[in-house]
Amino acid sequence: MVVNFVPWDTSKNLLEETLRLYENSGTLDCVDVGDLVAIKINVGELGNPYFVNPFFIHQIVDLVKTKGGKPFITDSNTYDGKTRTNAVDHWKNAIFNGFIDAPFIAADGLKGENFRMVNSKGILKKIEVSGVIAEADSMIVVSHVKGHSHAGFGGAIKNVAIGCSSKNGMLRQHRTVDIKIDTSLCTGCGNCIKACLRELPKIENNVSVIKSKWCMSCNKCKRACPKGAISRVNTENISKAMASAAYGVLKTFKKDKVSYVNFARDITEFCDCHSNPGKKVMEDIGIFASDSPISIDAAFLKMADYTVFNEAHKIDCMIQVTELKKLGVIGDIDPKIDRL
Ligand code: SF4
Ligand code: SF4
Repeated sequence: MVVNFVPWDTSKNLLEETLRLYENSGTLDCVDVGDLVAIKINVGELGNPYFVNPFFIHQIVDLVKTKGGKPFITDSNTYDGKTRTNAVDHWKNAIFNGFIDAPFIAADGLKGENFRMVNSKGILKKIEVSGVIAEADSMIVVSHVKGHSHAGFGGAIKNVAIGCSSKNGMLRQHRTVDIKIDTSLCTGCGNCIKACLRELPKIENNVSVIKSKWCMSCNKCKRACPKGAISRVNTENISKAMASAAYGVLKTFKKDKVSYVNFARDITEFCDCHSNPGKKVMEDIGIFASDSPISIDAAFLKMADYTVFNEAHKIDCMIQVTELKKLGVIGDIDPKIDRL
């Protein structure tokens, strides 16, 4: 399966480059006249400057309209974070960041209540697919490729798996990884409580304990602990859970009704869900297009030195790709890349 690619070359007009990319790749082939077309993006947590430039999304909106489709921009509300946890704030965030050329519709309802439970396979046997995604006729998944504290990196697979699941689905995927506290090292300093957005750790008998079902194994408390008392175990499970979720999401679409575009530039340590995504960890690479989430993410990994993510996040980025392949989704883990 060929992945088409244009380099991030600012000596060229990048809108002309993406147009050439989409025409060569058949990116718009998934759109039929009258389709309600989900353009699945991450609008970027407020304060994070590295989400996909809105003008690239405006271009896709226009191309969908030209094909007779009815585009809307969508993303699921987040479980954590601050500015995208409900449909109203999420819409405001989308407008603030410049996504104004098509309606923004939160994929899982006002507060995450709109989902369809879909059978899947692998580590999760069911997944809560965001209702708007499940109802869409076709979908163009546009992803900013960057690091991800759980899965190593986030591209198309992450955008489909976590991004197209409702809040509960997101939480269940993250909770496949466990957080452990070594009480022999813990001094009860409380730093972990301050670091947690929901203040979930509690001090009991002078040591920290995390019992809450709302803990999403996000790692913030681990990073804040001065004693190294907090660790994550079963870290590979998130990649397996993402494969299960992506499989479930894609089941809700008919054949050839989803296409993918990956923007590999401003490649940061952490994902667009963070208001502070950290430093850039590699050079800008370019823009990929494909009709497979496996091939497009594998193409990025083939061109990038992704060991930087493996080392930073202590997980092999390839796992999510190979796990999705194991579930039977079409794609190549060593794709041919056509540089246009
Ligand atoms: S991993 Fe730590 S910081 Fe993250 S939600 Fe759980 S308790 Fe809070
Ligand atoms: S930050 Fe570490 S040492 Fe301090 S209370 Fe939390 S687990 Fe214990």
